[in-house]
Amino acid sequence: MKILVLPGDGIGPEVCNEAVKTLEVLAAKKGVSFAFEEDHAGGSAIDAYGDPMPDAVIAKAKASDGVLLGAVGGPKWDHHTGAMRPESGLLKIRKELGVFANLRPVAVSAALADASPLRPEAIAGTDMLVVRELTGGIYFGEPRGRSGEPGAEDAFNTMRYTTPEIERVARVAFTWARRRGGRVCSVDKANVLVVSQLWRDVVTKLHKEEFSDVELTHMYVDNAAMQLVVRPSQFDVILTGNLFGDILSDAAATLGGSLGLLPSASVGGNVGLFEPVHGSAPDIAGQGIANPVAMLLSTAMMMDELEQGDIANAIRAGVDAALNEGLRTADLHREGKTTRVSTQEMAERIREAALASLV
Ligand code: NAD
Repeated sequence: MKILVLPGDGIGPEVCNEAVKTLEVLAAKKGVSFAFEEDHAGGSAIDAYGDPMPDAVIAKAKASDGVLLGAVGGPKWDHHTGAMRPESGLLKIRKELGVFANLRPVAVSAALADASPLRPEAIAGTDMLVVRELTGGIYFGEPRGRSGEPGAEDAFNTMRYTTPEIERVARVAFTWARRRGGRVCSVDKANVLVVSQLWRDVVTKLHKEEFSDVELTHMYVDNAAMQLVVRPSQFDVILTGNLFGDILSDAAATLGGSLGLLPSASVGGNVGLFEPVHGSAPDIAGQGIANPVAMLLSTAMMMDELEQGDIANAIRAGVDAALNEGLRTADLHREGKTTRVSTQEMAERIREAALASLV
């Protein structure tokens, strides 16, 4: 399998490097062969090619089986505007790969319960996946506009979903539920919004026709926001649209206690894009203290998507082992309670434990 690695900027290369090493050792033990190719993205691509996401890199991405991306951006490129911004490169590759479903798992292991802003007993057992529709809904709906004189202006956006758009993202959610706890909670506002009524009808029909082995429930978004902070452990897969998903996935992201723990995947096209939720963290770049867990868990999601579940599970087991042993990078370290390690030391221990768990 061909994997394109785009380390990007800041801590991106530091954490990507550990991800590649980890895949190499696990693949060797499993007898799977990965061909890695590396290229520039974001600021580093501006420096190398004068473009944050050149077409040649997009072509390599499309010809691969999966893309691992570190993070892009940083003060060096902040003066760039429009299509020359590093983040524009990210939007371009997402659009070009046609990835319409964004997946963000949030799992809080017992070892990290005290890092959460919620009480340990409220967070215990949390292990959810938010599946957010990424390319439709009110962020893209037409018409949109603003008119009128100052003081009497009006403005409008359109929330619009088509049946195929709902079906395809719901299919992703149901498929992941089968790999996980077998439950989907579809979040909408069907008591008020017509578009949510269609959303609910389409999800219900698809469930009945193709995924009746998965448990399906529906929840209004206002209740879902409340349940996320009251009893997050009740959720397995949350399926929702672009606007609600944007808000709920960020709320869910805070539950774990550090950005350095959160992986993501954007899927739906022929090739998936796997990247940590965090950015390039220029404030800690080059110091060897970044948490590699978000990147390694993103790599595990790529392995799931490429039907390499054993390797995915081994990476997750490695992460759990290192955390249970009390190893922490600086973002999560607590003096007198945990053992502070570098990016490399953390990743090394995760690899050892992952290898040991791989049969
Ligand atoms: P950030 O996620 O880079 O950092 C926020 C804070 O979290 C910082 O204090 C950072 O040190 C810390 N942090 C992040 N990842 C960490 C890790 N793995 N281990 C330990 N600590 C970690 O967000 P920001 O500071 O708002 O943005 C910095 C740059 O990254 C900007 O240029 C921004 O545009 C870009 N950015 C890129 C992406 C992406 O590539 N997907 C996402 C968000 C921000």
